[in-house]
Amino acid sequence: MNSRYLLVYGSHRLRVIEAIELVALDVFNARRRQITLGDVENYLGQLRNHAPEYRCGRCQAAAIVRPDRVLMIVRVWQRQLAVTRLRALR
Ligand SMILES: [Zn+2]
Repeated sequence: MNSRYLLVYGSHRLRVIEAIELVALDVFNARRRQITLGDVENYLGQLRNHAPEYRCGRCQAAAIVRPDRVLMIVRVWQRQLAVTRLRALR
């Protein structure tokens, strides 16, 4: 399990940056080449439909993040990954 998740599961108060990263990580791991704002909004919509008793952390995160911020983080990570791969080829 990723350590980012442990941070969220263990805490009562979810900081916004952790919430954004938690949701962004799921979107990033879906590994679609071109992720759109619509993809992020769909995923947030699914999470917001969770029953409160789920307490999976992600729906709490979805309640406080803005889709454009999530998309921005995903794009930063994708760019970093692309740079790392390019360097590995040299
Ligand atoms: Zn949930």
